[in-house]
Order: sequence, then C-alpha cells, then structure tokens
Amino acid sequence: MTDHEVDYSAVVDILEDILGDYKLHNDYKGQISFDCPTCSYDIKGLEHGDGKGNLEINYKYGVYKCWVCAETHQTHGSIYKLIKKYGNPKQLKKYLLLKPEDDEENVKRTYKPVKLPKEFIAFKDASFGLKLTPQYKQAFAYIKKRNITDFMLQMYNIGFCHSGEYQNRIIIPSYDENKNLNYFIARSYLSYSKLKYKNPEVQKEIIIFNEGLINWDEPIYIVEGAFDSIFIPNSIPMLGKFMSEHLFSTLYEKAKKLIIVLDPDAWNDAEKLYHKLNCGKLMGKVWIVKLEGEMDIADLKGDLSGYEIKQLD
Ligand SMILES: [Zn+2]
Repeated sequence: MTDHEVDYSAVVDILEDILGDYKLHNDYKGQISFDCPTCSYDIKGLEHGDGKGNLEINYKYGVYKCWVCAETHQTHGSIYKLIKKYGNPKQLKKYLLLKPEDDEENVKRTYKPVKLPKEFIAFKDASFGLKLTPQYKQAFAYIKKRNITDFMLQMYNIGFCHSGEYQNRIIIPSYDENKNLNYFIARSYLSYSKLKYKNPEVQKEIIIFNEGLINWDEPIYIVEGAFDSIFIPNSIPMLGKFMSEHLFSTLYEKAKKLIIVLDPDAWNDAEKLYHKLNCGKLMGKVWIVKLEGEMDIADLKGDLSGYEIKQLD
C-alpha cells in the first residue's frame, strides 16, 4: 500500500453506488458497513438488503469481509475484488483511478519466482578460510552488533553477499509452508549505504515471511520487520507499517491468538492494527505490547518479559 493522498470520500461514493446506504461508518478508521449482497440475495433470496450490515469494508486498508458468509461464500478480499464482483466495469475503473496500486491483476502479471543471489553464502556454511577474510569479518561484525546469535543464523539460514547485485548485504531468506523460498530481505551492513534495503521484486502483498515456521495453534506475534521476527519465535513481520490484505485474511482464518509488538515510534499504527484485527472471530483474542523509549525488539533481544501484554478498550 502506498501513502499518497487518496480521496476516500470518492471511494465511499462508489461503495454506496454499488451497495446502497451504509449502516455504520467510522471515517477515522476507514471502516464502513453495508448489508451483504450475498447474504441478502443469494442466501436469503431477498430483493432488498437484510438490514444486518454484516459486510464490513475498510477502505483505508482496501479490504472487505462479511462476518456471516465469508467462509462459506468467499465473501472477503480486496475492494478491487468486491467491485469486480458486485459493481460494474465503470465503477471499477473509477476506483482504480483513485487507488491504482490496488490493481491485483497488474501485480500478478509482474510476478516472478524468487531465487537467492548466486553470491549468497549462509553463515552456517562459511568455510574456515572464508572466515578469515575481511569481507566475512565485516558482515559478521554486523550480525554481532545486531545481537543475532549462531542459533538464529542456523535456524533462519541467514547469509550474506560480498559481491554481485546484493554486495555487502545480509540476506534473510523467507520460506513458505513447503519450504520453498518465496522472498528475502537484503540489508546493507555498511554504515554509509544509501540504500539500506534492496529486496527482490515480488508481490510482497501475498507473502507471509517464513510462513513455514509458523505454528498457527500457538500465539502469533505481529512485528514490523524481518530483523524483528528472527528474535521472537512464532512471529510474522508485516514487512512495513501496514498489514497486507493477504496476511490479514490468513490471520483471520488460521490464528488463535495474536500479540502485536511494533516499534515504539509506531504506537498509533499498532493501536489501529489492534482494532482492525480485534473483530469477528478474533474478538478478544488480540493482545498488544507497548515498547518504551527507543528500545526495539532487537535491542531487547526478543525478551519481552519486562513488558505487559494487554488488551485495549
Ligand atoms: Zn454475507
């Protein structure tokens, strides 16, 4: 999701064109509810809305979901999908002019499979000879500075490149449920690098970083970056300040308990995320940790024992 100014009132107009009068609207959260067309027409056979207002849309996140028929009738996903399903091509075109980045088909077309750079060396596989080189020492010094342990290097197959496209970068690979690589983070270990991160071009929105390591039955921690996630077992990084629709709907379907831990400077975003997630069947199952001062998860080495895990009103 990008941060450019979107005319949300125009988005609401389109939604009202398609779905009729709204039931509830919180324009601060970007949340609006309507009668669900699938519940009303397809399930109940009504010629009008059922008056329940179960279809909830968050137009700031670009997602929708019916709290009743989402699972049985796939009534959830992006607003793009919603307009495609219930609206007409003109409305879809209008919407894409307001939020061009939401064109999923466009993103799908540019999707390429990911491979680790050919210069990639996993720290765990580094030979004795390599360990004596200044390149290795420089990369490894960064690992130590970030408090990353040998166990973590092993567990996450963390490595580095000292030449090539990803020269002087630490690489944290991400593997999907079938242990296939689906993404990696490449962070510079030089203090003067202009470009801190240089990540492969993929559809980041459909990736759950290291999904293969997630145990959905255990509490899941939601963190900001990949470097945070390696410190907390069973955590998922959002890879940015906002949660993708794919991660949101996967959590909604699979998670039993969620704990949000974002950086101290992102408390407002964390609160918003809390309220977004704490809905429907996740209601009451979302928790949050407020980190103090400048300390991020890596500074704390993933040790949250001094912090209260709480719920918000
Ligand atoms: Zn419905």
